[in-house]
Amino acid sequence: MVSRSVNSVAPSATISLLARENELRAQGKNIISFSLGEPDFDTPKNVLEYACNEMYLGKTHYTPSLGIQELREKIAEKYRKENNVSVNAKNIIVTPTKFALYISYLTLLDPGDEILIPDPGWVSYVEMAHLVGARPVYYKLNEKNSFQIDEEEIKNKINKKTKAILINSPSNPTGSLFNMNSLKILRDIAIENDLVIISDEIYEKLVFEGKHISIASLDGMLERTITVNGFSKSHAMTGLRAGYLIAPQELIKYMDNVQQHTLTCSPTFSQYAALKALDDNEDTIKMVNEFKERRDLIYSGLSKISIFSVIKPNATFYIFPRFNYNGKNSMEMANILLENLNISVVPGIAFGPSGENHLRFSFSTSKENIIEGVERLQKLI
Ligand code: PLP
Repeated sequence: MVSRSVNSVAPSATISLLARENELRAQGKNIISFSLGEPDFDTPKNVLEYACNEMYLGKTHYTPSLGIQELREKIAEKYRKENNVSVNAKNIIVTPTKFALYISYLTLLDPGDEILIPDPGWVSYVEMAHLVGARPVYYKLNEKNSFQIDEEEIKNKINKKTKAILINSPSNPTGSLFNMNSLKILRDIAIENDLVIISDEIYEKLVFEGKHISIASLDGMLERTITVNGFSKSHAMTGLRAGYLIAPQELIKYMDNVQQHTLTCSPTFSQYAALKALDDNEDTIKMVNEFKERRDLIYSGLSKISIFSVIKPNATFYIFPRFNYNGKNSMEMANILLENLNISVVPGIAFGPSGENHLRFSFSTSKENIIEGVERLQKLI
C-alpha cells in the first residue's frame, strides 16, 4: 500500500530510547534530559500578546500564500542589514523552516538526483531526500578542524547527478560555525559545478563567539543560494511554526506553487508573532547569555571526564563530545547513561556515520541539571 519513497524513510533512530526514558520517568526515576531540541525558555510575552491581539482583530483567515507583505518586507530588510544579502520582499516565502527545506528539495530535485548532506548533520536532511526520491550523499565535516569543510571530501562526492549542497551553520549537532575559508571553498565548488546551496541558518542568533556569515552574501552566490531560517530557536517559539525561505525570484514562483497546493499559507497568527519577533532582540540576547554560561559549565564539566574529548561549541545549545568507553558504540553508550545514570542524550549515530562515538548533549536545561548530570557522569568513571 505504501509508496516506495515513503517506505524508504527510516523511523527515528532514537525512538526506542525515548520510549525507555518515558518508562523510567513513569517509574518515578529522576531523569536528567540532555536531549531537548528546543530552547527551554518561554516565548517572549510581547510576541504572544501581539499575535493574540491580531487574532482578536480578525487576523484568523488565509493570508497570501507567500506570506503577509509587511513580514516579507521586514525579513528582506533584516537580511539586507544584518546579513549583507541584497534581497527584497519578492525573494521571500513565509513558511515553517522544516517545510522551507522540504519545498527546496521538491523544487530542485528529481528522482535519482543527488544532494550533499553534512556528516554529522541534522537527522531530517537525509529523510527529506528519500521523500522526494533523491539520493542523499554524506560529506564528512573535518572534526580535527572544528568541523569545518574539507575541500577534497566535497569534490570527491560530486558527480553529474549532484544538484545541491546542503549546509547548516551554526550546526546541529556540532555547535560549530563555518569560517570564511569554508564558505569560500563551498562558493567556488558551487560555481564551478553549477550547484545550488541550501543554507539552513536557523541557529544564526545563538552565537557565543565568532560571527555567523550567510553564504548568500558572498560574490556570485545570491543567484544560487536558498536560505532557510526561522524563529523557533531565536525566540523559543517552536510550536508556532514560524519560518521563511529566501531564494532567487525565478525559483520563488515554482516554490510558491508548492506552498499553494500543500500548506496554503503559514498560520496567520504565527506570521504576526514573527513580525513582532523581528523587533525583539532583547529576549534573544538574554537567552544567548544564559546559554553561554551553561555552555561554559557543561564544557568545563565534560572536559574533566577522561572518556570525553570535547570541542567547545561556539553556537547553538548543543555540545558533541567524542567518547571512548569500553568499546561501546553511541547507541550502547546512550543506553548505559539512561539505565545506569538516568541521563538522556542523543547517540551521535543518529546524525550520520561520522557521528558514531559521539553523544549530543543539549544544554537547553538548567544549570542545576548540568551540574548534577556532570556529577553523575563522573561516577560512571
Ligand atoms: N534545521 C535544523 C538544523 C534544526 O535543528 C531544526 C529543528 O530542530 C530545523 C531546521 C527545523 O526547525 P522548525 O522546527 O522551526 O521547522
